[in-house]
Amino acid sequence: MTGTEIPEDHPRYASLLTRHRIEAGVEKGITSKQGLIAQGRGEAFDYLLGERTLPSADDAARAAAATLLSAERPVFSVNGNVAALVPAETVELAEVVDADLEVNLFNRTEERMEAIATHLREHGASEVKGLTGDGEIPGLEHARGTVDADGIGAADVVVVPLEDGDRAEALAAAGKTEIVIDLNPGSRSPRTAAIPIIDNVLRAVPNVTAHARELADASPAERRAIVEEFDPDAALATAERAIREGSFAADEE
Ligand code: ATP
Repeated sequence: MTGTEIPEDHPRYASLLTRHRIEAGVEKGITSKQGLIAQGRGEAFDYLLGERTLPSADDAARAAAATLLSAERPVFSVNGNVAALVPAETVELAEVVDADLEVNLFNRTEERMEAIATHLREHGASEVKGLTGDGEIPGLEHARGTVDADGIGAADVVVVPLEDGDRAEALAAAGKTEIVIDLNPGSRSPRTAAIPIIDNVLRAVPNVTAHARELADASPAERRAIVEEFDPDAALATAERAIREGSFAADEE
């Protein structure tokens, strides 16, 4: 899985693997230097959460899968950290739920857009959106709000892992149903989301895919019930409690 020299039984294996992938992403021109800082922030929260998927995050992943399967035009937004950490897993999820992939960068440069699109194609993507940039999210300055009109511009459901708070708010204001993957339950992006998944993208993306495979034959009513039962505020509160009281406190809820 890695191509690195990190032994799998190392106690901090996941964290070292993540660092290695992000570093390689920067070297390949996929991840920005800002992305390194975002990674450090994420790692601290993952440590506090016990570096595992909380039961409430698993519920969120299931609700996300049900939402994606029921969507008309789902889009998975890919930034430099996501491309470096989970390229093949992202392509796989998009295939399973029939979503488009769109490169969407906070610091948009043509070089990085191209590098990420190429990287995703090397990991099996047939089509990657984002390079046309003929649409915009209202309420954001041009560089931050540029999207593809037939991608995020036309989407009803958007998966936005590690998204900046302003953009997450603008997407919600534009009427998109947002699925946010972020390790910090206090960050604005998950607080804006219809479905916040407080988990590491390394675990969350394959987990949503596994739930989507399981729910592929579920009826629309069954999927709706899963989404309705999910309570985003409770999921955020559980993750916060896990951080304050130790991650295993969340198992009791
Ligand atoms: P906001 O403006 O929403 O308050 P922020 O300024 O806290 O956001 P950024 O630094 O822009 O956020 O983005 C980094 C976010 O991504 C952090 O919330 C961090 O926890 C999260 N993050 C970093 N790495 C991962 C990862 N591997 N999996 C999930 N989330 C991650």
